[in-house]
Amino acid sequence: MKIQSLISERRIKRKVKELAEEISWDCRNKDLLLLGILKGSFVFLADLMRTLEIPAECDFLKVRSYAGDKSSGKIRIDFLPSLKKRDVLLVEDIIDTGLTINSIKEEIKKQKPRSLKLCSLLNKPARRKQKVKIDYLGFEVPDKFVVGYGLDYEEKFRNLPYVGIYPVK
Ligand code: 5GP
Repeated sequence: MKIQSLISERRIKRKVKELAEEISWDCRNKDLLLLGILKGSFVFLADLMRTLEIPAECDFLKVRSYAGDKSSGKIRIDFLPSLKKRDVLLVEDIIDTGLTINSIKEEIKKQKPRSLKLCSLLNKPARRKQKVKIDYLGFEVPDKFVVGYGLDYEEKFRNLPYVGIYPVK
């Protein structure tokens, strides 16, 4: 199946560089931990981390919130590393209703990190149910189901180098 491109590989590369420069400057005096939310963020996080101009560590959270293309609104964090006194930058693939990221943030705050910020590759504001503060954002997308650059449809298409629209019926 051919997936129609929405955001090209070139645009993604340019945006990752811009975000990395901004984060590198803002976090120049911090003990930065990139905390990726699996699985969707792993491609974005890998590119972002390699483009940063400052030292950084990474870790990952496994969260269950989706079956097929529908949000359940409920999440379960399978693994949460110790974040006490860390400068945490959450790295997400897409913010849709906002339920997942807000629940994750609440869990993380309990661990008392020194600072907590959010970087998301994509934002789909049309379906927002809760307000979300995105500190670093790549692109806004329309109310479509998107895949590629880490994002899947039933585990497929994560390897596409661009973001495209999956034709959900
Ligand atoms: P939220 O709780 O904000 O509704 O859901 C966020 C999660 O839902 C994302 O991390 C992602 O895993 C999934 N998601 C939301 N919209 C899309 C989409 O258009 N495509 C894909 N592949 N996943 C999505």
